[in-house]
Amino acid sequence: MTNEYFENPENQEHSGSNEIRRADNGIESKGHQETDRNTARQINDEHNLIEDDHTAAGSKHAPDYIRRTANDLSSNDLPRNGLSRSDIRRRRIRRRRQDMVIRIALIFLTGFLCGSLFTGLFLRPKSIPAAAVANNPNDDPAGPEESTEQNPLDDSRQPAGIVVIDAGHGGKDPGCMESSVWESEINLQMALKLQEKLEAKGVQVIMTRTDNEVTLSLAERAELANDQKADVFVSIHQNSYTSPQISGIEFFYKEGEAGSETLAGLFEENIQSDGSIDSRGIKASGDLKVLRLSKGPAVLIESGYLTNPEEEKNLLSDSYQDKLMGYIADGIMEFLEQKAGREA
Ligand SMILES: [Zn+2]
Repeated sequence: MTNEYFENPENQEHSGSNEIRRADNGIESKGHQETDRNTARQINDEHNLIEDDHTAAGSKHAPDYIRRTANDLSSNDLPRNGLSRSDIRRRRIRRRRQDMVIRIALIFLTGFLCGSLFTGLFLRPKSIPAAAVANNPNDDPAGPEESTEQNPLDDSRQPAGIVVIDAGHGGKDPGCMESSVWESEINLQMALKLQEKLEAKGVQVIMTRTDNEVTLSLAERAELANDQKADVFVSIHQNSYTSPQISGIEFFYKEGEAGSETLAGLFEENIQSDGSIDSRGIKASGDLKVLRLSKGPAVLIESGYLTNPEEEKNLLSDSYQDKLMGYIADGIMEFLEQKAGREA
């Protein structure tokens, strides 16, 4: 409490009673100065509490006269710092409202920031895999251009088919020895020529053997063709007979297998078209093991009789071998084309 709270500074020594008189006529009516003075201190202290904690004035635990005095005091416009108590109270109310507004604003701001953080962390659009972006022609300008490039697996570049060529005998099994050269060697010479011709036409060729050191069973040869799902399996041999008059090429096909018979027929037609090659035609066989074990079109070619002197001469000739294998290769290509036509 300072002097400025009193209208007459000369009465400072009686400030307690004067304050009470001016502050609260109700207390003044008690008529006991000491009591008034003590009560005034209580009122002032209580009033400070009221200002600090506005619930105190209405407290049920406060004495009635204190509550009453506090209410009376609050209703008076006592000067303080040049402001009336009602002005101070309005200022406090205004300040509290401002504080409330600021708190609400902070709550909203905090909520907004947390919401933004949550959205950024968890609701962000999932990143598109780089591969997907690259494959999207709208996003990748190179996409449409790449699609116009020729596919390396284009049909025009694909092998026309899979052909397994089996050079008969070999290794520990040289075949028949009716000439200066073992059958296994002649078979291999022809097989290699056929391989070259077919590969030149884009055919995928698989050889059962490429040298004379390898020993293969008949079952192994057939299994190779089956494992590769060969479109054509041809086994090349040379024939022999007790009579030197017998000559001519023969085509053995797997009995009951339509593709084998068709293939053998194409070989025969090409040989016949030459007009200079002796042919004994096509023959069904259920006994030749390499044919019996084959699951796909399979033909065993007996190129001629080494026991016939004239034919033996041809079979050892590089040009004759080349001509003969040329017709075989043509037959295989025709067969593959027919097959492709049926599947298209
Ligand atoms: Zn043979």
